[in-house]
Amino acid sequence: MQTPDTNDSQLCSHQEHSNQAHANKEYSQLWYPYAQMKHLELNLEVVEANGVYLTMSDGKSLIDGISSWWCVTHGYNHPELNQAMVDQAQKFSHVMLGGLKNRTTEAFAEKLVEITPDGLNHVFFSDSGSVGVEVAIKMALQYFFNQGNHNKTRIVALERAYHGDTTACMSVCDPAEGMHKMFHGITPEQFFLPAPTGGFSASEEQVNADIARVDALFNQHASTIAAVIVEPLLQGAGGFNIYSPTYLNQLKALCEQHNILLIFDEVATGFGRTGKLFATNHTDISPDIMVLAKGLTAGYVGHAATLASTRVYEAFLSDSPAKAFMHGPTFMGNPLACAIGLKAIEIFERDDYLTRIQTIEDILKEELLGFEHEEIVETRVLGATGAIEVKDAKHHQGIQQFAAEQGVWLRPFERYIYTMPPYVISPEELRKITHVMKAWFSRPR
Ligand SMILES: *Cc1c(COP(=O)(O)O)cnc(C)c1O
Repeated sequence: MQTPDTNDSQLCSHQEHSNQAHANKEYSQLWYPYAQMKHLELNLEVVEANGVYLTMSDGKSLIDGISSWWCVTHGYNHPELNQAMVDQAQKFSHVMLGGLKNRTTEAFAEKLVEITPDGLNHVFFSDSGSVGVEVAIKMALQYFFNQGNHNKTRIVALERAYHGDTTACMSVCDPAEGMHKMFHGITPEQFFLPAPTGGFSASEEQVNADIARVDALFNQHASTIAAVIVEPLLQGAGGFNIYSPTYLNQLKALCEQHNILLIFDEVATGFGRTGKLFATNHTDISPDIMVLAKGLTAGYVGHAATLASTRVYEAFLSDSPAKAFMHGPTFMGNPLACAIGLKAIEIFERDDYLTRIQTIEDILKEELLGFEHEEIVETRVLGATGAIEVKDAKHHQGIQQFAAEQGVWLRPFERYIYTMPPYVISPEELRKITHVMKAWFSRPR
């Protein structure tokens, strides 16, 4: 038995500790993302969410202008998605994919093959966009290893790219301006091409000039290049650079000429964000490998799919076990994620989300294109994405609070204020977002 003495002193030190925890904001049990914890101030607490609205602990509601990092495509607390999740949970929430089949995961793979661009016939599941990209890169390298080619070990990426936060992903994010530049030199060294210029409708000359850089790199280094990875048409977290489908068509032709695989990271662009179901649908081609996440599960649970062409898949078929793809995240093909994903696609098709996205695009263009201010470099819109680029990131200081006070949740980063709303947003709600984005520039100072 403990003496009262010991007990007291333990109690005392415990109290001191927890008092300190509350008094000192440098102490937080929860470590938040992309944040200097020393200065992090969090005043907004979500207690409920419905449709496009987040309800805060003070009772106020905010329109979510960015779909919780671009994934809540169908809105919050969707009755049919909730039901799909409950129905699956009552059968089984999870079962391993190693050595066991289940119909939910198989049906989701079949559906993804059906709706994605031609030729992508095989689906490898994993648990997040970053892991999906890791899988794509590993698959591309092994595609060549399995054919006895051990020279093709490098990846080509675009400047301004963002492909996730894990090691291989960091190696293909923008090396100079990207948030992972500190790790440059430790992560595998890759090749970078300048970000394509000229926007969605770039002139032939602009595309040709950009493609000439690709051609030059391939002519010099193709023997060491396994794959090119790009976010097709819309570079997201690297700064909302929008570029031409013609660039992608020509990139694919050069890849084929040089025996290089083409990987499309559609983690952000997939499921309607650029105005078509996939950004690839704006082009005449299909990539060899495509990565989906974010909208894949409508923001309910984390999941990703890496799809491969038959040509890629067949390079792993062999009598030799050594040629198998040695990868298998514990939660891959999670039935809850797959049941929700299946239902999300059903709703997307049934309720004609592409028409809703067209309406969103029309409103964003009307509201944002042509909006001018001395601080603004450019405004850009593609599909259900609208961004304002300013000259100096300092210009954003205070905008998050400003927007919240007016009932909108935004999270600007670097030089960009943007919206990527849930597709269920009404025209009035969307105009409220764009009005707040614009009102920031004419606020009294
Ligand atoms: C968000 C994102 C990722 C990473 O996905 P996570 O699920 O956050 O790991 C990768 N690529 C692109 C293009 C993204 O937008």
